[in-house]
Amino acid sequence: MRMILLGPPGAGKGTMAVKIKEELKIPHISTGDLFRAAIKNETTLGKKVKGILDQGDLVPDELTVALVKERLGSSDCSDGFILDGFPRTIGQANSLTEFAPVDLVINFTISEKEVVRRLSGRRTCKNCGAGYHVLFIPPAKENVCDKCGGELYTREDDKESSIHNRLAVYEKSTEPLISYYGDKGLLKDVDAGQSPAEVLSSVKELL
Ligand SMILES: [Zn+2]
Repeated sequence: MRMILLGPPGAGKGTMAVKIKEELKIPHISTGDLFRAAIKNETTLGKKVKGILDQGDLVPDELTVALVKERLGSSDCSDGFILDGFPRTIGQANSLTEFAPVDLVINFTISEKEVVRRLSGRRTCKNCGAGYHVLFIPPAKENVCDKCGGELYTREDDKESSIHNRLAVYEKSTEPLISYYGDKGLLKDVDAGQSPAEVLSSVKELL
């Protein structure tokens, strides 16, 4: 099974990717991980990516596509893969269709209100970086890290105004992909506002 996961921040896409990976025994490939690995291993493509990121520029489509293509050519991808964070543009989607057409695109849908509820409750330790959530993973003592006693804070990204911006950016960039894969009949919606167990069972019905 070759698949793509789409979903806004807060939809729990990363968690589901791990479950699907375990279920189908196929690799989970995120472009963030690919960039980090290529840079760490100092591959030819990795050196190019590093140069671009160091200058504060966006990695061009061509280079991202080359990295993904190289990764999907590995033997562990012969039974399929889960792509996360790729494609991001129609240009990338067209390239992917040429070298590794996918069978399924899962689109995790969730209301803006639920995303705000999930993300705005996040807290991070100033000292060790440990993550908490006021509703789901509360620390034993309010605003104090269980691990190191450090002070907890809300990252700029997790403040409500930033969340609305992140969602707007996500929607604008993803809309064309939703139409692209919808037109090909490959897109399946999954309601990510359900409990994790329900989301997983909805996903399994598609596999
Ligand atoms: Zn801490």
